[in-house]
Amino acid sequence: MIPPAFEYLRPKSIPEAINLLQQHGDEAKLLSGGQSLIPMMKLRLARPGFLIDINSIAGLSYIKEEGGFLKIGGLTREAELEASPLVRSKYPLLMDTAAVIADPQVRNLATVGGNLAHGDPANDHPATMIAFGAQIVATGAKGERVIPVEDFFVSLFTTALKHDEILTEIRIPSPPAKSGGAYFKVERKVGDFATAAAAVQLTLDGGGVVQRVGIGLTNVGPTPIKARKAEDFLKGKKPDAATLAQAAQVASEQAQPGSDLRGPAEYKRGLVKELTKRALSRAVERAGK
Ligand SMILES: Cc1cc2nc3c(=O)[nH]c(=O)nc-3n(C[C@H](O)[C@H](O)[C@H](O)COP(=O)(O)OP(=O)(O)OC[C@H]3O[C@@H](n4cnc5c(N)ncnc54)[C@H](O)[C@@H]3O)c2cc1C
Repeated sequence: MIPPAFEYLRPKSIPEAINLLQQHGDEAKLLSGGQSLIPMMKLRLARPGFLIDINSIAGLSYIKEEGGFLKIGGLTREAELEASPLVRSKYPLLMDTAAVIADPQVRNLATVGGNLAHGDPANDHPATMIAFGAQIVATGAKGERVIPVEDFFVSLFTTALKHDEILTEIRIPSPPAKSGGAYFKVERKVGDFATAAAAVQLTLDGGGVVQRVGIGLTNVGPTPIKARKAEDFLKGKKPDAATLAQAAQVASEQAQPGSDLRGPAEYKRGLVKELTKRALSRAVERAGK
């Protein structure tokens, strides 16, 4: 339970943090909320020689709408999302997601940037950001680069971030009128990671036909999954119950679950089907309001 020894560094600016990452190379790790990294260090699954704590860097925590996006600073805590009237009123998918991550103690510290940068397919934000079609802003020595979320998750615990880059912002396209979203998750007990979960964000046109839809799946593959075939199936269709059930079936065929302590693969595939169906119909209901 005691992590190996490390040197603790507390930069005051992004350039200083990047400089430290370059100086210490693979030996260094960024520390945000510490809710994934510290447990991994205690279990000796991670042994960084240098911890670069970015919590003293000002200006990395915010939630604001600007230029057609909801912009979330990398260091924004889950609890801040939950408390945001803007998230509550306009981004119900994000609110649903934040509310089912771990427990209130963890959410007081855990950051949205850390949740994504960790690259864990069991984390909840990755699928949600896929459903939104979000963009990830990475800041390095040469400035910022914007990564579409569908290119961000490379393999298990591996993202497109370079070693000397910091995830500084998440950009979610502001939803047009007649949009809705929802997140449905099954967990063994409150506070656990998902056995499976489904995120949906969609927009209907004036005639009630699906104009845009994003579907992301949690913890049913080595990376979060974009259920592209189900999205393509739904686009241009009226979202009646039979169509949503068919789309959910297509999404479940795209899942790649494995059998583990949370259940056998076929059970998880069945969960994906049911959770996607429920998330789709809640999203349609919300889009109509
Ligand atoms: C009991 C428990 C239950 C949990 N249950 C859930 C759950 O149900 N759903 C869920 O989604 N998560 C869950 N988590 C994980 C939690 O959400 C973590 O906080 C999150 O995965 C990582 O965020 P963090 O800010 O704590 O990052 P840290 O632990 O500080 O860092 C995690 C990794 O990301 C890197 N990193 C952090 N910030 C940045 C950045 N800005 N730029 C680049 N790299 C960065 C770090 O170097 C490290 O490798 C749980 C955690 C605990 C302890």
